[in-house]
Amino acid sequence: MSIIEVSNLKKSYEKLDVLKGITFNVNKNDVVAVVGPSGSGKSTMLRSLVHLEEISGGSIRVSGEDLVKDGVYSKPQEIKRITSKMGMVFQHFNLFPHLTVKENLELAPRMARKEENSVIQRRSTELLEKIGLTDKATAYPANLSGGQKQRVAIARALMMGPEILLFDEPTSALDPELTGEVLQVMKKLAEDQMTMIVVTHEMGFAKEVANRAIFMDNGEIIETGHPDELFTNPKFERTRSFLIRSL
Ligand code: ADP
Ligand code: MG
Repeated sequence: MSIIEVSNLKKSYEKLDVLKGITFNVNKNDVVAVVGPSGSGKSTMLRSLVHLEEISGGSIRVSGEDLVKDGVYSKPQEIKRITSKMGMVFQHFNLFPHLTVKENLELAPRMARKEENSVIQRRSTELLEKIGLTDKATAYPANLSGGQKQRVAIARALMMGPEILLFDEPTSALDPELTGEVLQVMKKLAEDQMTMIVVTHEMGFAKEVANRAIFMDNGEIIETGHPDELFTNPKFERTRSFLIRSL
């Protein structure tokens, strides 16, 4: 079953064509690694999925519902409901600095006013345990390491029970010794069958955890395939030269 169906997605800023008609699907339980040079449109693609960017043309469907069809967006209320099926984790964590870890986790579900506070609190407690930060519940982001901040950001994204998680270079802002703890949490999510799209430079992680890789360059998807195949035996010269540069 497809959770995400993107077809002919285009995004331009004035004269700059950032996404030139990209098409791909993500199935339930897929872990899709997206790789490509800086400026190739990876972040714009992820941001378009959660409507942080308005696309210029094409279609995005999320578990069978149109977010945007042939460039025409659904009604604002529908957009809100459809994008809430996705959780996003950013390179720079984007935690609320004036809220504690626990408050960061509970803010969105409390604002949604759909659940009892006790239910929300139980879930935040469980998720803090899952990411190994129970003892940091009342700490503020400024007092956490980068790796801890990113683990909190992942837990926060899980609080709304998303069908899919999107990661935009989740370890790129971290010191090398802190990337492992974040990748470990992501690996555990994959083992729990979470559907994920991960923009990353971590080829080792992509090979180990992803079941599909997408190589983007200059606003286009150049090739997709199983990571073992795409990373070791790419079909296209552009993929090959990118991989050589990234070693
Ligand atoms: P990546 O994540 O692969 O590095 P991005 O999606 O961030 O690539 O950017 C793709 C291109 O879009 C780049 O050329 C970038 O300069 C341009 N771009 C991104 N955001 C904006 C914006 N708000 N206004 C104008 N150009 C932008
Ligand atoms: Mg980016």
